[in-house]
Amino acid sequence: MRIAIMGAMLEEVEPFLELSEHEPLLKYFKKHNDIEYGGNVYHEAKYKNHEIILGYSKIGKVNATLTAATMIEKFGAEMLLFTGVAGGVNPKLKIGDLIAATQLCQHDLDITAFGHPHGYVPEGAVYVKPSANLLHLAKEVADEKDIDLIGGIIATGDQFVADKSRKDWIKNTFEADAIEMEGAAVAVVCEAFNIPFFIMRSISDTADEGAVEDFDEFLKHSSQRSSSFIVSMLDKIK
Ligand code: SAH
Repeated sequence: MRIAIMGAMLEEVEPFLELSEHEPLLKYFKKHNDIEYGGNVYHEAKYKNHEIILGYSKIGKVNATLTAATMIEKFGAEMLLFTGVAGGVNPKLKIGDLIAATQLCQHDLDITAFGHPHGYVPEGAVYVKPSANLLHLAKEVADEKDIDLIGGIIATGDQFVADKSRKDWIKNTFEADAIEMEGAAVAVVCEAFNIPFFIMRSISDTADEGAVEDFDEFLKHSSQRSSSFIVSMLDKIK
């Protein structure tokens, strides 16, 4: 199968690309071709029976939309796995913990002036759901590795949330468990093209006043946790 692996920032996909530090991951991905397209670099690689297209979009919903659509339409991805970091909202989520999105929404999409709910536009839906099969697979991986994987709602918006009142508003409005800036955009693209997808995030911060410092400190470690989980999932995909 041709599988897209996508992050938003270089640091989020670096575990797949760096040679020395992450040998176990890299041994599968080191033979890659780099292709520049639409302002980004896409890496084609092989992993067991799969062809991989790997890349990062740059931050935010517009960039994420461009990359997800490119991976599908230009590079022929038949499945998309997203790996990265997020701000934790559910108090059960500590820094480094993993969350698999069971639903995604856009917290900054607002035509409530017309009487619609937050996150809704006509012909759309507030929540988009990832592939049930991939979520099931993720649960298997988590059980085998004894990882406490939380499934939950990820709220996406073009805003780094580092403010408790904004965080609480998002939590209460969408029942969100984590906040980031790309997942729901990727979800909308994949759903439109009928491509099974999975969005994994490892917690880098808790989206409140200490978020910037925590993010900088834990970005690398949390990115690695998310990436290695994705590699374990690849092992299970037929
Ligand atoms: N430090 C970076 C900016 C990071 S923006 C720079 O200066 O260039 C945060 C990124 O991590 C986004 O891609 C987003 O998806 C995710 N993220 C992590 N914590 C977040 C939070 N609290 N709010 C929103 N996005 C968050």
